[in-house]
Formats: sequence, C-alpha cells, structure tokens
Amino acid sequence: MYQSPRGTSDILPEEQPYRLYIEKKAADIARLYGYKRIDTPVFEDTELFLRGVGGATDIVQKEIYTFEDRGGNKLTLRPEGTAPVCRAYLEHGMQNLPQPVKLFYMEANYRYERPQSGRYREFHQFGYEAIGDSDPVLDAEVIDMAWQFYVSLGISQLHLIINSIGCSHCRPQYLEKLKTYYSTDTQNLCKDCKIRLEKNPLRLLDCKNDSCRRLAASAPKSYEELCPECAEHFSKLKTFLTVLNLPYEIDHCLVRGLDYYTRTVFEIQPEIEGAQSTIGGGGRYDGLIEELGGKPTPALGFATGIERIAANLKRQNLSVPTTPGPLIFVAYLGEAAREAAVNLCSQLRKSGFAALQAPGSKSLKAQLRQANSTGVRYTVIIGEEEIKTGTVQLRDMTTSQQENISAEQLKILLGKSNQ
Ligand code: ATP
Ligand code: MG
Repeated sequence: MYQSPRGTSDILPEEQPYRLYIEKKAADIARLYGYKRIDTPVFEDTELFLRGVGGATDIVQKEIYTFEDRGGNKLTLRPEGTAPVCRAYLEHGMQNLPQPVKLFYMEANYRYERPQSGRYREFHQFGYEAIGDSDPVLDAEVIDMAWQFYVSLGISQLHLIINSIGCSHCRPQYLEKLKTYYSTDTQNLCKDCKIRLEKNPLRLLDCKNDSCRRLAASAPKSYEELCPECAEHFSKLKTFLTVLNLPYEIDHCLVRGLDYYTRTVFEIQPEIEGAQSTIGGGGRYDGLIEELGGKPTPALGFATGIERIAANLKRQNLSVPTTPGPLIFVAYLGEAAREAAVNLCSQLRKSGFAALQAPGSKSLKAQLRQANSTGVRYTVIIGEEEIKTGTVQLRDMTTSQQENISAEQLKILLGKSNQ
C-alpha cells in the first residue's frame, strides 16, 4: 500500500471546513487592510532562495527541496513566500505603482524538516507583504493585521513578541559584541551554535537548547545597540502599538530565521509550551529587494501557518461553519421513472438546489436507505403515476411524512429550505 510521503498529509473532506474558514477570514482581513492576492509558482530558480532567504539559514542549509529538471535547470520547491513575492514585484515593475504595494498569498510551502505535531514537510501559509515604505506606522499596521486576523478567528490568549535587530549600519557592531560575549563560553554551546557563532551569530539567541538558552538570556540586547535611526523607528513602532492597544512584549532573543530581516521582527505565540508554539511571525526586510537586483526598497511582511491555526482552533474547541450537505434525494420506482428522476435531479441543480440520486438499478427501499445515510432533508419519489400527473411524492426525512405535490410546489418549498 502506498502512503503519502513523510511529512505530508491528505486534507480530507472533514478537515476542509477549517481550511475554508481560515482562508475566508484571511481574504476578509486582507481586504480590510488593502492587500491584493498574488500567486507565485510552486518552484523557483534555486538561486532566488539562496539570495533571498540566505545561504546561512536553516531553511537553505537543511530544508530546501532542490532538483534539476530535464533541461538542467536548478529549481527549488518554494520554502517560503517572501522571496518569490519580491521577485514578482521586480519582474512586473511594481516599483512604478503607488507605494507601498500590498500583496497577500495563500500557498503550500516545502521544507525538509523532522515531522512532528505542527511541523510538516508540506504545509500551508497565509502571508502578506507591504513593499516600498519604511514608516514604522506600516510595521504597526502589519502587526495589527496579524493580531486582528487571529481575533477574527476567535483565537485568544495570544502573546505578541517584538524586537528590533537593527540595520546594516548598527548590526555589524552588535554582532561583534555578541561574538565577544559568546566566545568566552563556547564550551557551553551546542554543536549547531558553535557553527552559528561563525556563520550566523544572531541565531545563537533563539537556539532551543537549554544551556544555549541560559547564555542567551544575559547576552547583549540588539535593541540597546541600535543606531539613532533604528532606535527612533523602534520607539515610534512601540508608540503606534500602544495607540492600537496591542499588548506587546519585547524579547531580545527573538531574531527570526531568515537572513533578510532588518529592524522590526515579531512573532505571535499562543499560551502553550513547546517548540511548535509560534503561530505566525514576520518582520522588516529593507535589504531584500536590493539583494534581488532592485533599487533599495524598504518592505515588511508576515506569515502564519494554516495547520497551526487549525490546531489552535481545535485546541480551543472553536467550531467552524460547515458547508451544508445536499438538500434533496431523488428516488424512482421503475425504469421509466428513472429517466424522469435523472431529468428532475438535473433541473433541481440548475435551479440551485443540491440534489443527489442513486446510481445503479436499485429497489426503492435501497434508495431510501441511501437517502437516509446522506443526511438529506427531503427525498422525492417518482413513479409512473407521478409522471402521468406531473407530480412527485415528497418525503420529509425528519418526520417521515409523505405528500403528493406538483413540481412547482416542490421548487417553492426547496427555495424556502435553501435560505
Ligand atoms: P519555526 O520556528 O516553528 O520553525 P519558522 O520561523 O521557520 O518557524 P516562518 O518561516 O516564519 O517559521 O513561517 C511562518 C509560520 O509558518 C510559522 O509561524 C508556522 O506557523 C508556519 N510553519 C513554519 N514551518 C512550518 C512547518 N514545517 N510545518 C507547519 N507549519 C510551519
Ligand atoms: Mg523553521
């Protein structure tokens, strides 16, 4: 027996109401904040992610699915949404539109991770990007949109964590301080962090290993080492967050995984312990568009995992709207009536009523049993007598009462049930 590849799963019909609900709320919030949808290809040139996500990141070093196609092109399954959106921004000349350009996506991402609850190799993200403006009011708006999105879903008890990791002017000095701090204590670092100390010292701060965490707790804080411009930006952001009534916490260990972040970084976490608790995060990436060949263009964005949102909805026992099932089952008695049933079923669907019929030549009893199992509200039965008189037998499945009505009356009745 075949199984879906490790870290992937089928999204079965019973799971779909969660997806639909989350996607609908995402589209609603995007409209409220003025974001338009974009879809990018599921694979891109590998180079885009090497540049756009960064060669020193976990994603690029350990997690990307890369392959060569028959034409010898090196391609990578999209591990995240920001680099492709920025590529599209440049490719389609969006720098000539009024700025900021606001785009959102809902897409599958692929990362070769160790599968566990909340962590998969194929997962889905809702994300959005505001490209072309550096005003901290935009940072606050992007954070507010994420927060209001979760509020609209009914998810509560969330924590908003923020930090500022500076820019290309102030970060190098900060990284030097960080290296100096850690280099006196390298024996207490995990294997990965020993490498990070050389390649990506910022990531020392968010290692989950206990002894690394203890060291990180008293490490130099990036928000205390900001240049005046970054300090002003961070201070304004905090003011706007207060205006928006968003209860933030500052955590100097929050640095986020991707190389391209500058200044504001943030995460939203539910109140549960565990490595997979972060439900969404984002930040400013003022250097990315330039890194991809554009002119310097400030930007920021946010992404959240659909599977982790669904898990939170379930954990909080929040119910989601279900799609109504079929309304009516059309049964027949005798072969001649079968054609009339096929016709009626088609007419009903054309009028907008969800209708079912049973394939195969079945006895009326078997058809009624099937009707019952589908959960329809009504069943109509057509026999030779009904064909002659242009009527149907209508059976109310909740009361088991049956009556003879005209096709017109049937539509009026169904019209009322459909509302
Ligand atoms: P984590 O620290 O959990 O690995 P991340 O920093 O790699 O997360 P991002 O790249 O910022 O995550 O992605 C944003 C969101 O996408 C995460 O907050 C999470 O909800 C979701 N996500 C990330 N990786 C996975 C995964 N492998 N499986 C399911 N959801 C994921
Ligand atoms: Mg990750």
